[in-house]
Amino acid sequence: MENPEKPVPVVNPWARPFWEAAKEKRLIIQQCKDCNKHIFYPRIACPHCFSDQVDWVEASGKGKVYSFTVVKNNAPSAFITDMPYVIAVVKLEEGVQMLTNIVGCDPEAVTCDMPVEVTFEKLNDEFTLPQFQPV
Ligand SMILES: [Zn+2]
Repeated sequence: MENPEKPVPVVNPWARPFWEAAKEKRLIIQQCKDCNKHIFYPRIACPHCFSDQVDWVEASGKGKVYSFTVVKNNAPSAFITDMPYVIAVVKLEEGVQMLTNIVGCDPEAVTCDMPVEVTFEKLNDEFTLPQFQPV
């Protein structure tokens, strides 16, 4: 059976800068100009103080694995050839959490609190995915 293509992200207009930066291998997140808290995923208003004064800033790209799972079985899909693979929540130094993949290591080696840094996988000319690898 032929593998279907992987789905690509559906991009809201206010999330476009995140994906444009990822194409340049830069990780950016939002920061509220009023309460200074960092924000991820992209939003039109700050979830902490509801200000619409949100700006894009460079993220450190460093963080720690907050939680993860290793996918070893999957229904037929475009992801089946990737197995086993790691889906994780990474907590960035800036305090926000990002749903992502851990790559560049044995999936069985991933642990909670493991230090990781961003790396980028080019899917096609339109999308490059930020992922994380062990430091
Ligand atoms: Zn705020």
